[in-house]
Amino acid sequence: MLEETIELPAIHTILDVQQTTCCIVGSGPTGVVLALLLARQGVPVILLEAHKDLNRDFRGDIVHAGVLEIMDELGLTERLFQQIPHAKADKINFATSKQTVTFADFSRLKTRHPYATIIPQVQFLEFLIAEAQRYPNFKLLMGANVQELIEEDGIIRGVRYRGNNGWHEVRAQLTVGADGRFSRIRQLAGMELNKTGSPMDLLWFRLSRHPEEPEGLMARFGCKRILVTYNNFENNWQIAYVIPKGYYRQLRASGIEALRQSIVEFVPEFADRVEQIKDWNQASLLSVEVGRLPRWYRSGLLLVGDAAHVMSPVGGVGVNYAIQDAVVAANVLGNPLQAGRLQLSHLATVQRQRELSIRTIQGFQTFIQKHIIAKALQSDNTLKLPMYLSLPILRDIPAQLLSFGILPVHVNNRLRVN
Ligand SMILES: Cc1cc2nc3c(=O)[nH]c(=O)nc-3n(C[C@H](O)[C@H](O)[C@H](O)COP(=O)(O)OP(=O)(O)OC[C@H]3O[C@@H](n4cnc5c(N)ncnc54)[C@H](O)[C@@H]3O)c2cc1C
Repeated sequence: MLEETIELPAIHTILDVQQTTCCIVGSGPTGVVLALLLARQGVPVILLEAHKDLNRDFRGDIVHAGVLEIMDELGLTERLFQQIPHAKADKINFATSKQTVTFADFSRLKTRHPYATIIPQVQFLEFLIAEAQRYPNFKLLMGANVQELIEEDGIIRGVRYRGNNGWHEVRAQLTVGADGRFSRIRQLAGMELNKTGSPMDLLWFRLSRHPEEPEGLMARFGCKRILVTYNNFENNWQIAYVIPKGYYRQLRASGIEALRQSIVEFVPEFADRVEQIKDWNQASLLSVEVGRLPRWYRSGLLLVGDAAHVMSPVGGVGVNYAIQDAVVAANVLGNPLQAGRLQLSHLATVQRQRELSIRTIQGFQTFIQKHIIAKALQSDNTLKLPMYLSLPILRDIPAQLLSFGILPVHVNNRLRVN
């Protein structure tokens, strides 16, 4: 006789139950901006973050003009720039040993901020959290690792998280999964990304920068490798070493000296400092995945940011698009949440207002990955950069898409400072 195994739900001792209107899981750019904007509208919000601090290295630190315009509308840009060290880049250039072309020229954008800003994400998030903390209806819980959804009659009613001393519950009208590319909320809700393959992985690390070295964002295409460099806010070179997908093991096996030599082949001036890379621990591997949820919501639950759409690193747009999601969600959901009249159609509206922009940028990134990056990563010869990259008629499209998306996002009038 076959014995049937029945999985029983785990029973925890719940230490306390907190009630709020919106429970946001994850204090990355999406969660923090959404929490701030809902708090500004008087909506009670609890923001839960699994880590005890925000201090993680190698988080995205490029912020495009679209986000700065949002910061303008919130009256925050001036203070942001005064308080946090940052660098600016007005172009992204692509270079081979034979030619250099401008891939995105931000200086031609019609905006108060015609550049990409490189700003430490941790300090940016701390700044926004401090802003949210001015509102008594905002609460941040650090070290709150969400592990379960509370579901009743098919409706998500909140979450259970593990804190320092045990299990806790937060019950809410709406739960938002803003918990990033490996979203636990997405998994718990049984939602699956439609994935598009990516030909690459990235290794991130830093080298020092001499003050007289030219600033800028440059992708250098070599044989089977691409090296992206930009000067960061600490006056270092932030470097992304792009390798064929799955190649990392082989790279490591060939030793750290081979990595150093390969970097010097790209940028001979780095010969005087590649010794700074002493250990593989100084580098952080990003396994590139691209994907998108077909549906971002269920009754009582919405997913936004990387949790709803994992971005390719092409153009450094993850933070931008994540914050734009948060603004749209706050614009659409603020009133119904406050009035206690949230419906599924409101959640659908958030997805509808964001979907075209997300599809377009992911399509654009996939095009670049397929027609330029994959070719360089497969080629034994120097890549010939495609002609269309230097066509004047196309030259404003990449900067516009990276900075604003196909449908620029703005903060509702009721949330603006002026
Ligand atoms: C190495 C690297 C470099 C990048 N460079 C750039 C760049 O230059 N420019 C750019 O625009 N984008 C970049 N990106 C992408 C960018 O960082 C992301 O797109 C962006 O951070 C997404 O924001 P998010 O708030 O949706 O998710 P995240 O920033 O991933 O934040 C999710 C948060 O949720 C928390 N969390 C996860 N699980 C739980 C849980 N169970 N309970 C509670 N909290 C939880 C996490 O700790 C995290 O703080 C980079 C990404 C990486 C990995």
